[in-house]
Amino acid sequence: MSFNLKVGEIKKAYLTEQEIWKIINQFFANGHFTTTYKYGLMKALIENLYNVDNRLVLTFDQVYFSFAKIYWNLVIHHDLNQLNTPNRQSGIQKELKEFQLMHGVPNKVVFDRLPSNFQLQLVERTKKVGARYVVGALYGDMEASIYEFDKRTEYIKFNSSIYIFLQKYRQIVTHLTNYHLAKFLEKHNDKNKLEDVLLKVENISKRESLHAFYNILWKYETKECFYCGKVLSDKRIATHVDHFIPWSYIQSDNMWNLVLSCQSCNTKKSNKLAKSLYLEKMFVRNENLKLTAVHNDFNYYSERKLEALYEYAGMNGYVENWSP
Ligand SMILES: [Zn+2]
Repeated sequence: MSFNLKVGEIKKAYLTEQEIWKIINQFFANGHFTTTYKYGLMKALIENLYNVDNRLVLTFDQVYFSFAKIYWNLVIHHDLNQLNTPNRQSGIQKELKEFQLMHGVPNKVVFDRLPSNFQLQLVERTKKVGARYVVGALYGDMEASIYEFDKRTEYIKFNSSIYIFLQKYRQIVTHLTNYHLAKFLEKHNDKNKLEDVLLKVENISKRESLHAFYNILWKYETKECFYCGKVLSDKRIATHVDHFIPWSYIQSDNMWNLVLSCQSCNTKKSNKLAKSLYLEKMFVRNENLKLTAVHNDFNYYSERKLEALYEYAGMNGYVENWSP
C-alpha cells in the first residue's frame, strides 16, 4: 500500500494524453473509497495549479490551505459526513469539530471569515491527517505518476506531462472531481442535508467576500473601470472586484487576477474572457501593482503564467472576445 510511503518518486515521467486519460478514468471508476479525501486533494491540487514555482513544486502548506478550506466548508458549514460508515467520523472531521468546539465557532461561519491564526491552525491540523494518508494514497491510485512527494520536506512536484494535461483539460477534470465528490456525499449523508449538493461542492472554495482585495485595489489603483475606463464610484456597492480570468475557470482568488470594474462591465462580462488587448493591459497593471502593493500572491506570479492561463481558458471553452 502506498498511503504510508514517506517519499514517492515518479514511476513514469513521460505519459501520452491517452495514458493519462486511462489513469484518470480508472481513478474515478473506483467506487470504493472509504472517505472523500482523494477528491478533496484533487480539488486542492487543481486550485493550486498556478501557485507552483518554476520547478512545478507546491508546498504542503499551499495544498493544505485549500484542503482545510474545502473541508471546513464541507464538514462545519454544510455539516456533511465524509466517511462511508454511518455514525462514525473521519479523522479530518474529528479534527475540525474538535477545533470548532474548542473555539465556539458557529456553523454558519465559512473558512474565509475565520481569523487568519485560526486558518493556519486548521491547516496544521488537516495537514497532519491529510499528509499522513492522502498524499501517498492518491499517488498510488494514479499509478505513481501524478507527482513526486516527500513528507519530510513537505512538498509535491507535478509530473510535467500531468501538469500540462491538467491545464489543458482543467474544466473536465474539475467537473469529474465535483461530480464524484457530490455522488459520495449523496450516498453517505441524510437526505435533509443534501439540497443542491453539487452546487455546494462546486462553490466550496468561493469566498463570501472579496472586500480585502477591494481595499488593496482601491488604495493602489487608479479609480477607473479596468475595462471601460469610467470613473468609479467610491460607493462599495457600485464598484466591483472582477476576476479577469473568470472565477468559474480559475476557482481561486489571486491578487494578480483581480481588477476594479464598474457594475455594468462586471455584470456583462460575467463568465466571459476579455479580448487579448486587456491581457496586455493586465501585464502592465500587474507589473505596477507588484511593486506598490506588496502581496504574497505575487510570489508565484509571472507574465508567462497569466498568458498560459488565458490561453488554456480559451481551450477550455472560454471565448476571448468580450469587450464593453
Ligand atoms: Zn466598466
